[in-house]
Amino acid sequence: VIQIYSESLIQNDTKLGTVIVYRDITKEYEVDQMKSEFVTTVSHELRTPLSSVLGFTELMLTRELKPERQKKYLTTIHQEAFRLTSLINDFLDVQKMESGNQEFDKKYHSILPIIQDVIDIQRVNSEKHVFDVDIQTEKLSVFGDRDKLSQVFMNLISNAVKYSPDGGNVQITLRNNENHLIIDIKDEGLGIPKSAIGNLFTKFYRVDNSDRRKIGGTGLGLAIVKEIVKVHQGHISVESNIGEGSTFTVKFPLIEDVYVNASLTHTKG
Ligand code: ADP
Repeated sequence: VIQIYSESLIQNDTKLGTVIVYRDITKEYEVDQMKSEFVTTVSHELRTPLSSVLGFTELMLTRELKPERQKKYLTTIHQEAFRLTSLINDFLDVQKMESGNQEFDKKYHSILPIIQDVIDIQRVNSEKHVFDVDIQTEKLSVFGDRDKLSQVFMNLISNAVKYSPDGGNVQITLRNNENHLIIDIKDEGLGIPKSAIGNLFTKFYRVDNSDRRKIGGTGLGLAIVKEIVKVHQGHISVESNIGEGSTFTVKFPLIEDVYVNASLTHTKG
């Protein structure tokens, strides 16, 4: 996007010439686009759960309902309120990360139970997906903040579920190379266009595609993941083919075994 600015140079009523300035404002334009997308997303994401909370509470206040029905409505209200809370927490997390105020309580952990807990929650959320964990390494230790590490895998695994059809397989592989513990999260979903990969970890970015628009989200999940991984001296990358699926790969520095084993014993006690 080019902005053109021109002005005539006039001296003693004589036009000496014209100054024309061309400015490349692509970046500003993109930021503006993202901001307006953000307003649309936020208003949609906040309004949808709120209208459902309002609708169901109104029903419950104005009608005589059987206990089963009451329970059903209350369950929906609870779920929607939960969704709103996580959304607001995401916003606050991003805010804190940007201001550098996020606190990390780092300790030695095995990554395996952290991932297994996340999978257990996802299994309850989506009974229609198949989760498979392939452990190819014994070096499973990381030095990090348990809650934040858990959030990394929650965001990645819930995306794998969200952007893939029912019955899809979500494969989680733990392996290592010389310097890193490596975790791959592979799905058989929609895939991501090559042109979108560069923006994927930018906050509020969502891949624009009519199929996906129906899937709720804020475009914050991967931005949060990237930030947390960075604070843990890790690295995240993605490989994807449209219609075939995506693989997100997270790497954390390998921890000296002796040191970790001692600490793990300590944590257990
Ligand atoms: P959200 O899911 O809230 O939109 P994210 O930051 O988690 O935000 O993801 C950004 C975008 O990346 C999503 O809108 C989606 O289009 C795309 N995406 C993320 N994970 C996957 C995946 N596993 N498969 C396909 N697309 C994905």
